[in-house]
Amino acid sequence: MSARIIDGKKVAEEIRAEIKARAASLAKEGLVPGLGVILVGEDPASLSYVSAKEKACAENGLKSFERRLPASATEAELLALVSEFNHDPSIHGILVQLPLPKHIDERKVIAAITPEKDVDGFTPINVGRMVLDEPCFLPCTPAGVVELIKRSGVKTDGARAVVVGRSNIVGKPLMNLLVRRSVNATVTVCHTGTKDLAVHCREADILVACAGKAGLISADMIKPGACVIDVGVNRVEDPGAKNGYRLKGDVDYEGALAVAGWITPVPGGVGPMTITMLLANTVEAAARHKAMQGAFA
Ligand code: NAP
Repeated sequence: MSARIIDGKKVAEEIRAEIKARAASLAKEGLVPGLGVILVGEDPASLSYVSAKEKACAENGLKSFERRLPASATEAELLALVSEFNHDPSIHGILVQLPLPKHIDERKVIAAITPEKDVDGFTPINVGRMVLDEPCFLPCTPAGVVELIKRSGVKTDGARAVVVGRSNIVGKPLMNLLVRRSVNATVTVCHTGTKDLAVHCREADILVACAGKAGLISADMIKPGACVIDVGVNRVEDPGAKNGYRLKGDVDYEGALAVAGWITPVPGGVGPMTITMLLANTVEAAARHKAMQGAFA
């Protein structure tokens, strides 16, 4: 057997076409969806994520407003900037690029984002709404994973899903989304305290690896025919590569190809979906803003 490769770039392009059309129709009515991006410091990975997000905005009819603060910026300065964006009517979505420098309380900054502009879905209010299955902005990577699974035609109703990782931005929200009635999977979440990870993984019809450990999931941990979604992005040394490293997922991709039914590559799987979901949330935030304006006109 050779797994069907889930092409995240292709799926992301399909969704981006829908986003672009929606953004254009809002623009015709005089409202260009705006994403406010805040970057603190000069972390190279953060710089490259931010520039990819801004490029995607420009390509799809959204406007991005970037503000940079030095790594020495105080928490108060950052909170003031978040407040400025909260009140700026041309900004419909706010993104604070993580991680923040250690002297800044990340939780306090995230909580300061107005939930109506929380297009990353990280504020406690949005997280609560997600758990309660109420309208909200879903966190981008987990929402992208579910979208990839659904659009690939994988049966989720009654499926056994195993999520390897329990972070607040990937594993835990994924658990919540997979267990929703609209997906209807039975979900197990694994972490470093899990005994015999392989036993759990082998039971999975849908296996999502989000541990951030290159090669953690070997072929013998995969149930034949399973859908394997690899969220992990790990830099591994490669003297032959241009930068001296290459990106690898958490799954032994070559080995898994022979066992799995579906698989996402790294790069080119989940990554393109994350930014796409951010664009979708921002356009949705702009549309909601417009609807509110209409209601009070
Ligand atoms: P994180 O905060 O470090 O969380 C990793 C989780 O994996 C933790 O819950 C940890 O367990 C668990 N874990 C680590 N090693 C494990 C092991 N050997 N066995 C079982 N569980 C293990 O990472 P994250 O932010 O969720 O990101 C995870 C990965 O996804 C990273 O590679 C990241 O770069 C990637 N990512 C990709 C995208 C994308 O767009 N493609 C977006 C976000 C993240 P404990 O809780 O017990 O420590």
